[in-house]
Amino acid sequence: MIPAPFEYARPSSLEEAIGLLAERGEEAKLLAGGHSLLPLMKLRLATPALLVDIGRLEELCYVRDEGDVVAVGALTTHDTASRHELLRQKIPVFSAVAGQIGDPQVRHRGTVGGSVAHGDAASDLPAVLLALGGSVVAVGPDGRREIPADQFHLGFLETALAEDEVLLELRLPVPAHPAYGFEKLTKRAQDWAIVGAVAVRREEGAGLGLINMASVPLRAAAVEEALAAGAPPAEAAERADEGTEPAGDLNASPEFRRHLARVLTRRALEKAFA
Ligand SMILES: Cc1cc2nc3c(=O)[nH]c(=O)nc-3n(C[C@H](O)[C@H](O)[C@H](O)COP(=O)(O)OP(=O)(O)OC[C@H]3O[C@@H](n4cnc5c(N)ncnc54)[C@H](O)[C@@H]3O)c2cc1C
Repeated sequence: MIPAPFEYARPSSLEEAIGLLAERGEEAKLLAGGHSLLPLMKLRLATPALLVDIGRLEELCYVRDEGDVVAVGALTTHDTASRHELLRQKIPVFSAVAGQIGDPQVRHRGTVGGSVAHGDAASDLPAVLLALGGSVVAVGPDGRREIPADQFHLGFLETALAEDEVLLELRLPVPAHPAYGFEKLTKRAQDWAIVGAVAVRREEGAGLGLINMASVPLRAAAVEEALAAGAPPAEAAERADEGTEPAGDLNASPEFRRHLARVLTRRALEKAFA
């Protein structure tokens, strides 16, 4: 449980952080809240030669009202997101889900950018981003680019971010209707989801994000299509496991996860359309 030796740098600006990433390439890793990266380092599943600690960069801590979008800076903690008045009013699903991540310690240290950039399909916020149809903004030596949420996660702990890019912000479209449903099955309250489902009302139908149903966070596209075609929520939910590839582990077999996805999606839709 002791990490391999590493160098440590604490840049005082985003520009300096990008410069360090560009200089050191795959040797360097960004450190935000450290609640996902440090456990991996202790297990020696990650052995970066350089940690670039961006955890105190104020320029990445913000929540901005941009009309039909709310921009959330990468270093916003789960706790701040869960209490932020603007988010609670305009995108209540995001603050509600952030408020149920882990335990208070995890929520005070863990960041929304770290959660999405880490690329773990068992994380909650990537599924919310997918359900909302949001995007992320990445910034690197060549400037900024926006990446739609459904093109961001490429594989297990693998994202579309280049080695020298920092995730700057999440862009959350304000949903047509504030009602949502979030269902997460855990053994203990603070655990990661065995399976989870997030439903957000859209102009027509709903956006659906699934947690822990493949190696990447997934949209339940078949459910969204069925709803848009006029199927009742209970019928549409029966298609929740289409296109999924759930893993089997000590918590659940793939078959049980498929069953859970259908049940939790139905419950999430019932809440969103109540
Ligand atoms: C006990 C425990 C329980 C938890 N339970 C849950 C849970 O129920 N649901 C849930 O969703 N999560 C859970 N988490 C994870 C938690 O939400 C983490 O905080 C989050 O996954 C990572 O955020 P971080 O700021 O700690 O990132 P870090 O650990 O600092 O970084 C994670 C990865 O993202 C990269 N990264 C970080 N910030 C950026 C950035 N701005 N740009 C580019 N790359 C970046 C890092 O280089 C690293 O590869 C839990 C964690 C613990 C320890």
